[in-house]
This record gives sequence, structure tokens and C-alpha cells, in this order.
Amino acid sequence: MKLDISALRYLTSEDWRVLQAVEQGSKNHELVPTPLIQQLAGLRGGSGVHKCISALAKVGLIAKVKNAKCRLVEPQRCRAHILITWCPSDDGYRLTYGGLDYLALNTHRKASAIYSLGNQIGVGKESDIYITASPDGRQLVLKLHRLGRISFRTVKANRDYLRKRSTGSWMYLSRLAAQKEHAFMCILYREGFPVPEPVAWSRHTLLMEFIDSFPLRMIESIPNPGKLYVELMDMIVELAKRGLIHGDFNEFNILIKEKTVNGKIRLEPIMIDFPQTVSTNHANAQMYFDRDVACVKRYFERRFKYTSDEPGPFLADALKDADPGRRLDVEVEASGFSKKMAKELEQYVEVVGGDQTESDGASVFGHGDAVDEDDEDDEDEENDPGLEHSERGAGEEDAPPICQVDDPDLEEHLGSLSVDDNLAAKPASDADYGLVPIALPQDPDVVAEKVRTKKRASGWAI
Ligand code: ADP
Ligand code: MG
Repeated sequence: MKLDISALRYLTSEDWRVLQAVEQGSKNHELVPTPLIQQLAGLRGGSGVHKCISALAKVGLIAKVKNAKCRLVEPQRCRAHILITWCPSDDGYRLTYGGLDYLALNTHRKASAIYSLGNQIGVGKESDIYITASPDGRQLVLKLHRLGRISFRTVKANRDYLRKRSTGSWMYLSRLAAQKEHAFMCILYREGFPVPEPVAWSRHTLLMEFIDSFPLRMIESIPNPGKLYVELMDMIVELAKRGLIHGDFNEFNILIKEKTVNGKIRLEPIMIDFPQTVSTNHANAQMYFDRDVACVKRYFERRFKYTSDEPGPFLADALKDADPGRRLDVEVEASGFSKKMAKELEQYVEVVGGDQTESDGASVFGHGDAVDEDDEDDEDEENDPGLEHSERGAGEEDAPPICQVDDPDLEEHLGSLSVDDNLAAKPASDADYGLVPIALPQDPDVVAEKVRTKKRASGWAI
């Protein structure tokens, strides 16, 4: 789903209130009836609300749903002889992902976290990643969670679980994913783990530091794979010692960044993507830990032809060295991401799986062809997330890597990235990221003056 911000700057404060009212109403209603929108928006005069509703519907931020619950069934056609009555008041509106995007962007904008939005740099199985910049020009990444976007064809089990969910419940799960990711990143960053700095979280979106890097998936060779291997395994073990398992630790979710230390270039692995992180107390902790380890092992064997002589690492060993007083899983729970929320999200993850099955690897810098161009307007697609997803990425599993570390002299420091010509598309400067202001802050005096001028022009006496 493309994030189209062209309408953002034209929304009036009443439009925003109505949009927020639909969001608020959606918490308890699958579709929000117009009188409720009116009540929640607290706007006087029904015609004003109707105008806002149609303006929002026109740009696809809300969608009208007709008679979603009660349908007219003609008695003669109803075999069970049950007369279902016609409920005209069941017309209502629901928030679209576009509307949710706008609300989140507006929150980030009002908090002065985002000033401009740039190009899409990544598209995960269930997220869209954009470059943004703060008012002081710092480049940031905006991750929009889009749970429910997976293709049904890639999910073998439990299709019913996916099909039965409404758009609203996907949005709820997307919020949970963003909240969870933010909670984990805050604590991991504070504790000095190599993760992007989390900046803000609103609804289904997360704002974080932009890491100028390449996913491990795109690196063809390194002079000393053993050193990187050890660093990655250490990361898994250090996490476990603090009570956590990443749960999706693989070549897509490890970014490799060049860093200059004491005049020497070294490569630094940074981990991302935490919606699947679990506690080491989790019933399946052993399986998740072993799976993370196996992912790294398998990838190093396949890509770098590197096999470690060392067995493990093993969860039991990591837990032996753990200090119960320094558990981060406990802290995350205390931060507001409850066990109940974790359970709800986990149910979904169990059905869908993680990046192991995904095709997001070739999405960064010039691989924008993977961007999903689906349109929000389509009512059927919205109701059936399986239809919303374009079938991309089949065969991307074997996409060639696009950069190389090939300087053996730098063995001590893993070497530096040598980027090949395919990376010409990588933006060189801010301007190339396509950053444009998301909305110019509206000065209320200027707006009022504009209204007065318009009224004067149309013959009003003011
Ligand atoms: P998903 O949950 O959909 O897999 P990820 O968080 O793994 O989403 O992000 C998808 C891709 O976006 C990553 O593989 C990476 O290329 C890019 N990306 C994500 N976060 C950042 C970041 N902070 N800096 C730079 N690139 C990022
Ligand atoms: Mg990922």
C-alpha cells in the first residue's frame, strides 16, 4: 500500500477531528455510524460533519460501508423463514490504513519528530519503510506495520484465523507490533545493544534512527566471516543472558554498517525487527533460540562457505550466566506491553511466521520494484487482506547480493564494504531521498485571514 501524503496539507482542523472520531469509534465498532462520529468529533452543525466525512472518504482516509451487519433478506428467499429486518442506520464508516497513516504522521508532525517524508527504502512482508527527516534535518526511518498483508498462499495453516479478521483487528495487531517493537528497542538501545535509536511511536508506526547500511543479505563476501559469525552469535547469547530471544534473527534483520574506529574502518552488525522477540521464559524459548542460531549458521554456510568448529551456542549455557536482577523481558512488561498483548500478537506470528519466509531482502536502494502499489480504495481488498497483497518476491530468495567486502588487509576489522555498480541507485544526498515536507504547519491566524478574504470576495460583510 502506497503512502500518499498529497492530501495531508489540505485537511482542515475539523477534518482531523472527524478522522480522529472515526478512529475512536472504531475501537468499539466495526463500522462507526454517522451520529456517533458527529458526537465524538464534538462539532456543532451536522452539515459540517457531513462535509468533512465526504472530504475524508474522497481521499480514501475513511471508507463507507453499507449495511455491513444487517442485510435485507427477502422473506420468500430465506429458506429458514427468518425475517431479517432492514436496518438503514447500519450504514457507517471505518478507518482505512491510509487514514491511520495520516493520524500517525500528524502525531509525529505535531511532536516535531517528522518534518519531511522521503522515498520508500524497504518493504518487508508486513511493513513499509520510509526515509523521513526531523525538523533539524536528521534522517530517520519510519516503519509502518501492515499486519494482515501476507499472501494467503504462503500460509499453510490456520487460514481461517486470517480470513475471519476485520480490517480493524489488523490495525489493532499492527499497533501492537509497533508498540512491542518500540518497547523492546528503547530498552535494548538504553542497554547498549546494537539497535537503531528509537525516536517515537504512534499507532502502527515507529520512528527510528536511519542506519546507513546494507542488510547482511546483500553482502556477497567478507575476508573474515568467522569474526562476524562470532559477533552475531555473541549478540544472540548476550540477549539471552538478559532474558530475551530475538525470534527472527536472520540475514534480513541484520544491517551491516561501516564505522570508523581509531582511523580504521570496521563493520558493525546492527539488529532490527523486534515484533517476534520473546522472553527466555517463553514455553518455546528453546526452539526460538535454536532457530535464531540455525539461521545464522545456515546463512554463513551457504553464502560465505563458512562453518564454525564450535558447537552451539546453547540456551542453557547462556542462562547459566544470566543475572536474574538484570532481566530485560521483565522491564518490557513493566513498560506497558503486557503479557496479554504479547499473547495476541504471538498467535498471529505463529500462523504467519517471520522473515525466514519473506522476500524483503532486495528492497533497499534501487530495488523499489518490490514496492506494493495496491490501492486502498478497493473495498473488497480492504476486507480481505489476502487480496491486498501483491504476489511479489517469488524467486527473490536467490537474488544476487549487491555489495562485497574484499579487502583482506582489513581482516582484523572485518574489512570495508566495497559496493559494486548495481548500487548506483543509492541516494548520495538528502535531496536524493526525495524528502518533502509532509505538511506545512497551519498558522490559525493565516487560515482565519484566508477565510475572511474568501468571504469578502464573495460579498460577505465582515
Ligand atoms: P519487516 O518487519 O517487514 O521485516 P524490517 O524492520 O525488517 O521490516 O525492515 C525491512 C527492511 O527495511 C530491512 O531489511 C532494511 O533493509 C530496511 N530498514 C529497516 N529499518 C531500518 C533502519 N533503521 N535503517 C535502515 N534501513 C532499515
Ligand atoms: Mg525484517
